[in-house]
Amino acid sequence: MLLKNCRIIKNNKIIEGDILIDEENGRIEKIRKSIPYNGETIDLKNKIVISGVIDAHVHFRYGEEKKEDFISGSEAAINGGVCFAIDMPNNKPPITTKELFYKKYKEGKEKSKINIEFNFGVTENNYLETVEDAKAYKIFMVKSVGDLFISDYSKLKDILNQNKLFCIHAEHKDIIEENLKRCSLNSWTDHCKIRDKKSEVEAIKEIIKNLKIIDKIGKYKPHIHFCHVSTKEGLYLIKKAREELKNVKITVEVTPHHLYLNMDMAEDLKGLGKFNPPLRTKEDNIALIKGIVNKDVDIIATDHAPHIYEEKSNEPKNCPSGIPGIETFVPLVFNLVSKKLISLFDAAKMLSENPAKIFNIDNEIREGNLANLTIVDLDMEGEIRGDNFKSKAKFTPFEGWKVKGLPIYTVVNGSLYDAYGKII
Ligand SMILES: [Zn+2]
Repeated sequence: MLLKNCRIIKNNKIIEGDILIDEENGRIEKIRKSIPYNGETIDLKNKIVISGVIDAHVHFRYGEEKKEDFISGSEAAINGGVCFAIDMPNNKPPITTKELFYKKYKEGKEKSKINIEFNFGVTENNYLETVEDAKAYKIFMVKSVGDLFISDYSKLKDILNQNKLFCIHAEHKDIIEENLKRCSLNSWTDHCKIRDKKSEVEAIKEIIKNLKIIDKIGKYKPHIHFCHVSTKEGLYLIKKAREELKNVKITVEVTPHHLYLNMDMAEDLKGLGKFNPPLRTKEDNIALIKGIVNKDVDIIATDHAPHIYEEKSNEPKNCPSGIPGIETFVPLVFNLVSKKLISLFDAAKMLSENPAKIFNIDNEIREGNLANLTIVDLDMEGEIRGDNFKSKAKFTPFEGWKVKGLPIYTVVNGSLYDAYGKII
């Protein structure tokens, strides 16, 4: 198959040309200015082609098929222009043993229609375990499922002092508990007040405090990836730590919902605006977008966390946290490009190039490599509608939003699929 007239975005450059894909082995056979070819040809008419998008933070709900499964989750990914996903271990039961990990791994690899990888869940007891096929080790600083949670923060120094890549959900359990004493969860805004900015900031401080010790010892070189950073202050603290620490690598992830949505919208969004970390302020939205431009943020990932609509329609106390995001991911990021808030190169870095480096995923567009491509029409406008989702969760806090810049094709290991932009 020949993709004609591509505008390939790669390492801050635009390369114009054709991409020939060998459908037998799914690999890129040739990239040239112009390739003569008689077989199936798609003229992309100068649409944007980026390395297959990686969503480094998804919950495909292994074991909770009513919410999502590997098939629906990966079909949603394809619809959204996503070629790779990294799935989180907070399943029921949580993925905290090698046995559970490989059972899930096998099933996920078998059923998923995109490239899927998995994180291993860290507990206070299993933290020395090494799982060869785990992409990273996930740490929850606040209760998730079962014992997948570090409640004794004094153990963090030993846990983090290893040559591993740790993904950290940073919300401070004690601050949340304190807030809960003063405020009960009666409104949507209460959710934001209970898990307030301080809870994220103090959790980040706790991690950095330990990293400073580890950095001084210098024996191990951990890589700390902060998941879904949502506050201006938290981002600033991490920026300072990145400048200071020599032996510890730190990277930062933000979500699209924390770039676009804030507390002022909480009562209107109701359950669709309930997630963790929660909605912050407009000032935080702006600071995170600035962070992308300034390179203080490394990647955008969705924290795709589907639930059943009926559960999300409950009152605040009984509404689970989390929203589906994998199908609005690429449109919302390219919408920032269309609004000139970030550049085209920033988008390619956030979606593909940086997550590939952090999680060691080879999605590079080069001859001989498997063809994983996300093809985007920058001029295409559309309205986000949950009805169009392939996810089992057909709702979104972005319902009815008009966006510009939509994925039209997703190429996964050489197979070409229509994406979101084709159907709206
Ligand atoms: Zn998550």
